[in-house]
Amino acid sequence: MARKDQTADPIVKPARAKRVVHGAAGLAKAALGLDKADGNLMMRRWAVCDSCKHAEKIAGIVQTCGICRCMLRAKIRLAGETCPTGQW
Ligand code: SF4
Repeated sequence: MARKDQTADPIVKPARAKRVVHGAAGLAKAALGLDKADGNLMMRRWAVCDSCKHAEKIAGIVQTCGICRCMLRAKIRLAGETCPTGQW
């Protein structure tokens, strides 16, 4: 059996359960308008995510982060969020 080369991408993805809890809390905050980032910060974050190699599209529509699996439209709106790769 071939082993995956773990030196190619040293980024450690959060555990699935942790991602689900974090994502649900983040979506709830975004829906309620809590912890909202200002417009300039959101635009800067979006520009970074939009050109990031880890950004993925689900069904060609919803853009998500391939590392944390957050929906990027919600993630960039929350002031307390951080990029898992340290890009913002
Ligand atoms: S949150 Fe970070 S790693 Fe994820 S898509 Fe955006 S810039 Fe890339």
